[in-house]
Amino acid sequence: MEINSKIYVAGHKGLVGSAILRALVNKGFKNLVYHSSSELDLRDRQQVLAFFEEERIDYVFLAAAKVGGIAANNDYPADFIRDNLLIQTNVIDAAYQTDVSKLLFLGSTCIYPKFAPQPLKEEYLLTGELEPTNQPYAIAKIAGINMCQSYNRQYGTKFISVMPTNMYGPNDNFDLKSSHVLPALLRKFHEAKESNSKTVEVWGSGNPKREFLHSDDLADACLFLMAHYEDGEIVNIGVGHDISIKELAELIKSVVGYEGGIAFNPSIPDGTPRKLVDVTKINALGWQAKISLEDGLKAVYAEFRKEYQTIA
Ligand code: GDP
Repeated sequence: MEINSKIYVAGHKGLVGSAILRALVNKGFKNLVYHSSSELDLRDRQQVLAFFEEERIDYVFLAAAKVGGIAANNDYPADFIRDNLLIQTNVIDAAYQTDVSKLLFLGSTCIYPKFAPQPLKEEYLLTGELEPTNQPYAIAKIAGINMCQSYNRQYGTKFISVMPTNMYGPNDNFDLKSSHVLPALLRKFHEAKESNSKTVEVWGSGNPKREFLHSDDLADACLFLMAHYEDGEIVNIGVGHDISIKELAELIKSVVGYEGGIAFNPSIPDGTPRKLVDVTKINALGWQAKISLEDGLKAVYAEFRKEYQTIA
C-alpha cells in the first residue's frame, strides 16, 4: 500500500474496523474511505457497486459483518446468514468488478469445527461439525473465505482471508448480559471497587482457558498481511498462548485496583475448556503480537473509565 493509495475500511465502527482505521491513520495513510451503514447499506448490491465505481478503491479491509453472542445468534439466525452473505458477496464482487488491487476478508476462529484439536491450525477448517449455535454465521463466513479463494482462482484477484482469535480493545461491548468475559470482568471489578462490594462473581470454575488478542495487534497484523501476503489460504491471527479465567480475573482485579475477593459460581457452565489458535504460520511470515495482556488491559480500563458514564 502506498501512502496515497485509496483504502476502504468496511465496518469502521466495530472493534476490528475501528482498530484498522486507527492503525492506518497512525501510519500516515491519507486516502481513507469509510461510511456508516446509514450512508452506505452494504446489503444493497446496487449501492455497493455504485460506490466502488465512483471511488475507484485500491485496497479493501472487509471488517463489516453482523456479529453477536450466543443469544443473538440463536434469536436471529436468518439475519446472521442473510446479512453476512449479502455484505461479503456485494463487497467482494464489487472489488473484483472495479479492479481492487487487494482485499482482506475477516473470518473468525469460531468457525473452526466444534471438536477440532487445540491449538487450532488453519488446515482444520471444514474438517468437522460446526458449533450448532453459530452455524448460520459460520457458514456465511466460510462462504466468504471460499469466495475469495474462488475469485483468486478464476479471476486472478488477490483476496486474502484471516482468522482472528478472541479479541478485546476500545469500542468493546461492556453490556453484562451479552459481553465476553474480559469486558464483563473489567466492568464487574470496576463497579465492585466503586461500591466497596466484598466479592465479585466470576462465572464457572475459573478453569477454562482463553486467548486474548488486543484489537490494535490484530490491526497491525492485518496491515502486515496486506503488505506481505498474497495467498488465498487462511492465516490465523493470535498471540499463541492462553490463560485461565481465574488468572484473567486476578489480573483484572490488580489492574482495576480492587481489594475484595473473587467468588466463582460453578452453577454457570464453563463452555469450551480451551480456545487457542496455532500462530506458527503468521509467525513464520514475520509477524508476532506485541501488546502484553497486562498493558492491553490497562489501556482498555483507562478507556472504559473515560466512557463509563455513557455506558452505565
Ligand atoms: P466463550 O469464549 O465463547 O466461551 O465466551 P465468553 O467470553 O463469554 O466466556 C469465556 C469464559 O469465561 C466462560 O467459561 C465463562 O463462563 C467465563 N466467565 C466468567 N465470568 C464471566 C462473565 O462475567 N461474563 C462472561 N461472558 N463470561 C464469564
